[in-house]
Amino acid sequence: MTQALPKLPTSVVGSHGLPGWVWLAREAMGAGRLGAIDVRELMEDATQAALLDMERAGVDVVSTGEMMRVRFIIGFYDGIQGIKTLPAPRRLGQPLWDTNTPFEVTEKVAAPRGLGIVEEFKLARELTGKRLKATVPGPYTLLVPLKLGGGYRDKDTLLADLVRIVNAECKALVAVGADFIQIDEPHHGMYHGSAHDVSKGINRAVEGVDAKIAVHVCFGNLYGRPFSAVRDYANVFSTLHEIDASQIVLEFANRGMDDAARWSIRALLRHVAPDKLWLNPDCGFWETPRWVAKQKLNALVEGARLVRKELA
Ligand SMILES: [Zn+2]
Repeated sequence: MTQALPKLPTSVVGSHGLPGWVWLAREAMGAGRLGAIDVRELMEDATQAALLDMERAGVDVVSTGEMMRVRFIIGFYDGIQGIKTLPAPRRLGQPLWDTNTPFEVTEKVAAPRGLGIVEEFKLARELTGKRLKATVPGPYTLLVPLKLGGGYRDKDTLLADLVRIVNAECKALVAVGADFIQIDEPHHGMYHGSAHDVSKGINRAVEGVDAKIAVHVCFGNLYGRPFSAVRDYANVFSTLHEIDASQIVLEFANRGMDDAARWSIRALLRHVAPDKLWLNPDCGFWETPRWVAKQKLNALVEGARLVRKELA
């Protein structure tokens, strides 16, 4: 990363709001109406649109926009061998956890061609001169929809193989120029496991990865709402110092907009030194309408500008 950053750098958590035409194109893809070149063009155009939105808002460190990811992580399982797709337990009514696709492990899991994030990053790198953060799902996140099977007797053994997949993806990202990687992990309340295991899995996933590492501890953004009723970092704070990352990306704003951004920044500055604080929206935006996402980015950048002026 060579460009200098201002005080209180602004960034995004990951995904940008999907343009309406991307949803239409996905329907066409599902119906088998697009060829490989059509899909590539779709990916390029959607990524360019996401980058332009972030650049126009004035975000200092942009993401790839994650335009071709399917339901946050579900698309990644296409690249993972040794699993089979199970039917979602519920298909009618409002989407929730039980409408997500579960998978059963049938043999040793591996991702010999990676998860596809390298391609996503390379494309965004070509399309913007801005500093760019790569976002990678963490091993605990990838574990969530997997049912044990295929010789795995416990979740730890399965987790170890997922750690290997995430570590390989991070190293492949560094090999194509990524110098800032964020690992996305769900809030502890979303799965069973002790807080200490979390840092172990994450630390192994980023071992030997020569980049600035951030970890996003996510409450989830399911159609604009958190996954879990528990929106509390009390069980996370005690473990943060064990995580090998120089940045922890947390969600405090509760989807506040406009002046809320400035007030949240002021509240945080009572506890964090200004040179240690980066500003992000609450969570990724793929389930947020694009026009709302753009307003949130504008509010974030404006809030940062006002507070920087106060600090100067
Ligand atoms: Zn999140």
